[in-house]
Amino acid sequence: MRVVLAKHIGFCSGVRRAVKIVEDLLINNKKENIFCFGAVIHNQQVLEKLRKQGLKEVSSLKTIKSPAYLVLPSHGTSRDVIKLAKQKRLRIVDVTCPYVASVQNICKRLNKAGYQILILGDREHPEIKALLSIAPKAKVVNRTGEIKDLDFNLRLGVISQTTQSKEKFLSLINYLLNNKPLIKELRIFNTICLDSLSRQKEVVKLAKQNEAVLIIGSKFSANTKRLLGISLKFNSHSYLIEGLSSLEQILKNNFKSIGIISGASTPDWLVREIIERIKKED
Ligand code: SF4
Repeated sequence: MRVVLAKHIGFCSGVRRAVKIVEDLLINNKKENIFCFGAVIHNQQVLEKLRKQGLKEVSSLKTIKSPAYLVLPSHGTSRDVIKLAKQKRLRIVDVTCPYVASVQNICKRLNKAGYQILILGDREHPEIKALLSIAPKAKVVNRTGEIKDLDFNLRLGVISQTTQSKEKFLSLINYLLNNKPLIKELRIFNTICLDSLSRQKEVVKLAKQNEAVLIIGSKFSANTKRLLGISLKFNSHSYLIEGLSSLEQILKNNFKSIGIISGASTPDWLVREIIERIKKED
């Protein structure tokens, strides 16, 4: 079996940075209470490891008392949570990816300048919830079809979730230009992060050139699910696997070639573990 490995595997820079900061915090503050608001990144194996090192995940700050550390996750946090954490005098350790933070700044600027804001993304994702806490009146859509019946102002700013697909973003912009003539000033910010764009490009190549594609990562990770969706368009033998257990069934198909890529929050060691197992098939 031929194994073709993508260039982009393992953590992206934002996730690597976040995990390193949290690990250092846990090592250097063993006696302290260290909480994280939600999942610091979206990968179960990494979260389990951090939990064992002492990180406590919380969905509310109600029961947390100072002194304690509060980690703000890589994909951003709503302003009301940050405000409450400050009121409670928690020691905030913000590991928001710099790329996500730059999108928040764009959103803030657009809002302040009076633009109506349109966000392409998943309303339930923490990254979008954080943006909505900055611009509560922003409209959020997950696909072009959802803007057909929406009314827009003269001045519109468009941004997207950092892990959105480029095709969906282009389709949305195209639709706005062709079907919403009342918008006289359209400001478009390509806020899909470079790492996501590179992985999206690579997965297309892998899907076209191999009999099957493995996308290693969590089913809770937006960018991993996106890679699966893109790959499936070109290759019906595309699989999202979270670990070795789901690999065995796939290997029974005896594919001649397998392309391998990972989501941005998948650790390198997990990718290596899976490659080692595949090599044993030969
Ligand atoms: S996928 Fe992009 S935006 Fe998300 S954490 Fe990684 S570098 Fe940052």
